[in-house]
Amino acid sequence: MNDVLRRARAMLRDVTPLRSDCGLCCGHRCCASAEAEATGMLLFPGEAAYYAERMGYTLREAKQGTLLMCEGSCSREERPLACRIFPLLPVVREDGVKVAVDFRARSVCPLARQGRSAMSDEFIHAVREAGRVLCEDEVQRSFLLMLTHAQDEWKALRRQFGGERHV
Ligand code: SF4
Ligand code: SF4
Repeated sequence: MNDVLRRARAMLRDVTPLRSDCGLCCGHRCCASAEAEATGMLLFPGEAAYYAERMGYTLREAKQGTLLMCEGSCSREERPLACRIFPLLPVVREDGVKVAVDFRARSVCPLARQGRSAMSDEFIHAVREAGRVLCEDEVQRSFLLMLTHAQDEWKALRRQFGGERHV
């Protein structure tokens, strides 16, 4: 795991969407969901090697990258970056890194449906700073750009067909 990825993960080591455990109000849906258990969480470049040797995880290759399948619980120390920043996503814009609610989270997470205002400022700030750190590395920046484009395409589709409000 390179230094940029290690730093980004560390920034989200102890910061969570709410100061209290948000999982208490939803039954930890993001960990218990089919997404985590069957579909998997998309790993950032360089994370797969960390999980390859660890018990309780399975890796699967997909079009966008490597997916991590888990057993529905893990320590914060082991959590992949996608889970640490969930339900937010650092998006890369011309004027810098911004923070958006990850469209993939909306079907699972009640906080995602309420929007960023439901989450702590500390968490939002940490996700933005982690995104800035990741952009120091060209491979990580390209990965974030890919996720940004996917998010934008989804938003455009929702506006066209689903009546999603602009966020
Ligand atoms: S689904 Fe959302 S509210 Fe529930 S534990 Fe996960 S991040 Fe927290
Ligand atoms: S890796 Fe950990 S935090 Fe992520 S979905 Fe699985 S149990 Fe939850």
